[in-house]
Amino acid sequence: MKWKAVCFDLDNTLYSHEKAFNQSIDYCYQHEVIPFLKKYNSAPVSFEDWFFIFKKNCDRFWGVYNEGTIDVVTYRRLRFEETMHAFGFRTNDSLADRFHQRYDDIIDTFSEPDEALLPLMQWLKHHQIKTGIISNGMPQKQYRQLKKIGLNKEMIKKEHILISEEIGFAKPEAKIFIMMADELGEKANSCLFVGDSWEQDVVGAKNAGWEALYLNTRKIPGTTAHEPIHECESLGEVFDWLIDNS
Ligand SMILES: [Mg+2]
Repeated sequence: MKWKAVCFDLDNTLYSHEKAFNQSIDYCYQHEVIPFLKKYNSAPVSFEDWFFIFKKNCDRFWGVYNEGTIDVVTYRRLRFEETMHAFGFRTNDSLADRFHQRYDDIIDTFSEPDEALLPLMQWLKHHQIKTGIISNGMPQKQYRQLKKIGLNKEMIKKEHILISEEIGFAKPEAKIFIMMADELGEKANSCLFVGDSWEQDVVGAKNAGWEALYLNTRKIPGTTAHEPIHECESLGEVFDWLIDNS
């Protein structure tokens, strides 16, 4: 194969973060919001109606959070409290914080590996292609996710897992890819990166001299002139493409 190493993003690349997110928020709604509304004798709305507005508020405040104007706690309070206000419900910061604490505690229990993940990792191992994970996020949460989807130490070496909050820099910064290539002992142009975010994964990898494969699960076109080597809509398609190009 052309590549000596194939590395992956985690969320929405190796498992469906969106599915796990929806199920976790539903759980938190039933266990935090509904009891709170009952306490104040407010008639609850269906989860579907509440979630529709919540998702809109996630998108509405994502930009300012992503630019670094507000921190994660403020972002989460805003998306939660604006949703509660939209239905005329009483709310406060401590309810918003409790809701998200519960979300952090349970999200990994809803994560299921993509069905192509373990066969793909075994195939790469069999072909002596090195593997790694580069993920933006909190270490504890991301390690729990990795464990939940079956990526243990035998599958991926600990030193080949880079989590942004643990090392102090994040995708799309080139140095996170340079650090990974060093850990792998490979040149940048022998490494392929697979991820679902154009801005973090494709732009980051290409700017560091890696090849990039865009896993476009949400059918969002690229936003820059960078050219990934290929585009797929599922991890299964990535696996097929790797077999065809090995
Ligand atoms: Mg991702």
